Amino acid sequence: MRWFRRGNRQWQGALGDPSLHQKLLRLINKINWQSMKKSVQEIDWTPYKQPRFIVAGSTAATFLVLSGGFVSSHINHTKAWNEVFTNGTYVGLVPSNNATISGMKRTAAGYNINLQFVPVHKQVAGSYDWQRVTTLPEKAYAVALNGSPLVYTNSPSAAQKVIRQVKQALVPKHLSATAQVQFSGAVSVQQSIVGVAQILSTQAAALYLLNPGQNFSTSSRSVNILSAARAHGGPNIQVSNFSPSASVHEFPASAKVSVTTDTFAQSRSKAAKQSTSQPLLTVDASEVVQKQVNVKYPVKRIKDARAAAGTVKVVAKGQSGVVSEKVRQVYKNGKLVSSKVLSKDVLKKPVTQVEDVGTNRGIAAGNWIWPVPSSHIITSGYGPRYLFGRWGFHPGIDIGCPVGTPIVATNDGVVEDAGWNSGGYGIWIKLNNGHGIETVYGHLSKVKVHPGETVAKGQVIGYSGATGFVTGPHLHYEIRKNGQHINPQPYM
Ligand SMILES: [Zn+2]
Repeated sequence: MRWFRRGNRQWQGALGDPSLHQKLLRLINKINWQSMKKSVQEIDWTPYKQPRFIVAGSTAATFLVLSGGFVSSHINHTKAWNEVFTNGTYVGLVPSNNATISGMKRTAAGYNINLQFVPVHKQVAGSYDWQRVTTLPEKAYAVALNGSPLVYTNSPSAAQKVIRQVKQALVPKHLSATAQVQFSGAVSVQQSIVGVAQILSTQAAALYLLNPGQNFSTSSRSVNILSAARAHGGPNIQVSNFSPSASVHEFPASAKVSVTTDTFAQSRSKAAKQSTSQPLLTVDASEVVQKQVNVKYPVKRIKDARAAAGTVKVVAKGQSGVVSEKVRQVYKNGKLVSSKVLSKDVLKKPVTQVEDVGTNRGIAAGNWIWPVPSSHIITSGYGPRYLFGRWGFHPGIDIGCPVGTPIVATNDGVVEDAGWNSGGYGIWIKLNNGHGIETVYGHLSKVKVHPGETVAKGQVIGYSGATGFVTGPHLHYEIRKNGQHINPQPYM
């Protein structure tokens, strides 16, 4: 019999026969581990990694029993473990105690997962290499978009339920019965094999699709298995910030399990509040609706120099029209993105409103100007005077100027009369300047405006002359307030 043991590396040998190796393993599994623990503890026993000993001409059991005392005093920094396998795939390492193993087996069996435990003895630096249990391969059903899996569930019906929930959450609240609702892109259910921790509950999966940026718990299945391990001496495990898109999900060995118990509804409202990330699926909805739309009446504004600037008087009241519109409304994830009018029916035509808009700033501002820019000679003032052999009353002022001198409007106004006056003014212009004030320009040779026309202060309205009762060319200028002649001097 030759003995090779590890601990002193120069003693290492190679195990050339794999079948012997397998036999050894089977044997190990039959051993009452507790009773052997004392002796095995001190052996660096790693059958699946690199064989570290050769048993020649004997069985492993014999080796173990006989070797107990031999190695005990040399190695005390290694521990007994169980390597965990499922269908030949290594998934992790757990402490070697019956409670851990039976607890895990029981939990796994509940999910039809077959675990194999292979005792090993090795040194593990600091923490357990337990996290890989979460990569237990499992049959899963993905919700996929255009062939790419987005999230995994544990059954086809769960995946369909996720799709329904997401669709329902993303359609507009009030849609007509004839509305068309569909996902943007091809949404399907795909079967695949993934690590058990990637499989989410229906609620978590729907929530993830609606708000991928939010933290949520992993599936109940992986949590249960992990909890079982934890309850029986395994490390604490963190399940958060879980991203189903990660190919291998690993948990920090020293963290704690935290499982969110939010219901779907609670999570949805939370997700809505956060809304930091866009849903992974898009629901397009479109509907054609008939709408009655009020059409505002047009307004026609007429400038009125007789009215003070800033005043508006409604001359004819407008009336709104009514149009019946057929509109196609398109929504993306419940948000209206386009609204197109397909056809219009005028039910009632609008009636134009007519408004009289005052433009007269003169009275309010007190700014009147001189009617003859080129001459300031007053040849006859306002008041009683002797003319044509008798006394009379001169109702305005005369300003001396040659025939053809430009005459300007002394303020804003509307032309009331322009042309021949048979009362002695000859060719004249009468302006209504608003606020009860009229201005008169007499004895002209020519007018440049016509009745009804709006004129601005300073605008040339005609040319001086000598028409009517005159002794020579001049402008006769007068101001009437509420129909009575007044002295124009204060308005000059
Ligand atoms: Zn005069």
